[in-house]
Amino acid sequence: RKKLRLDKILGHLGYGTRTEIKKIVKQGRVTLNGAVVKDSGVQCDPYENTIELDGEPVVYREFIYVMMHKPQGVISATEDVRERTVLDLLPPEYRVFAPFPVGRLDKDTEGLLLLTNDGGLSHDLLSPRKHVPKTYEATVIGHVGEVEAVRFKQGVELDDGYVTLPAELEVLERSTSEDGTNLSKIRLTISEGKFHQVKRMFEAVDSKVIYLKRVSMGPLVLDEQLPLGSFRELTESELTSLK
Ligand code: URA
Repeated sequence: RKKLRLDKILGHLGYGTRTEIKKIVKQGRVTLNGAVVKDSGVQCDPYENTIELDGEPVVYREFIYVMMHKPQGVISATEDVRERTVLDLLPPEYRVFAPFPVGRLDKDTEGLLLLTNDGGLSHDLLSPRKHVPKTYEATVIGHVGEVEAVRFKQGVELDDGYVTLPAELEVLERSTSEDGTNLSKIRLTISEGKFHQVKRMFEAVDSKVIYLKRVSMGPLVLDEQLPLGSFRELTESELTSLK
């Protein structure tokens, strides 16, 4: 197994900068397998060796996987000069791992967002060749039905000429609002991720998305117990299902 420098291990876990960690170690506050170490550059196995700081065990892990129920009004980027990002919703003890969102949801889209620092997993989930299905629930203008379901199954041409892969449309509810506007609640599963894809697919069938929420991504399903704007780490079985 790979060995890492002690300062790297402590740095990854958010215990400070390299200089700060060097100082902490110099002060004799860190033990490795029960013995005080003074050299922050010492190589150790973060999983096998016992590291303690001020007598408290240092528990190492490389990756972090967080499910977030993204609210509207935040953007799915890691930083932005103007806008609040999904990273701003995470506490520092998660942010030290430098997680990033796996794929994007529009600012006004809610729902399932996975954040991780596992580049390999992210790459696999986003790879166009893997066709990982994503399911959305939406409210759209008009009463959509069989006609739109058939068109989505066949593929629709977006505004840039791209023809979408087969997608599955399910109508959940049709209603008419007080001002007489016909509305449909739908569920749509797509297996690709073009820019604004769901919104543009409904434009292609002369409808318009007025509310959009992602409910699943591959085997990962949004935990409905998670309030908007909150998050939790993936369970073991959720993580296993993704790999
Ligand atoms: N499709 C969209 O149009 N917007 C999203 O946020 C996700 C999918």
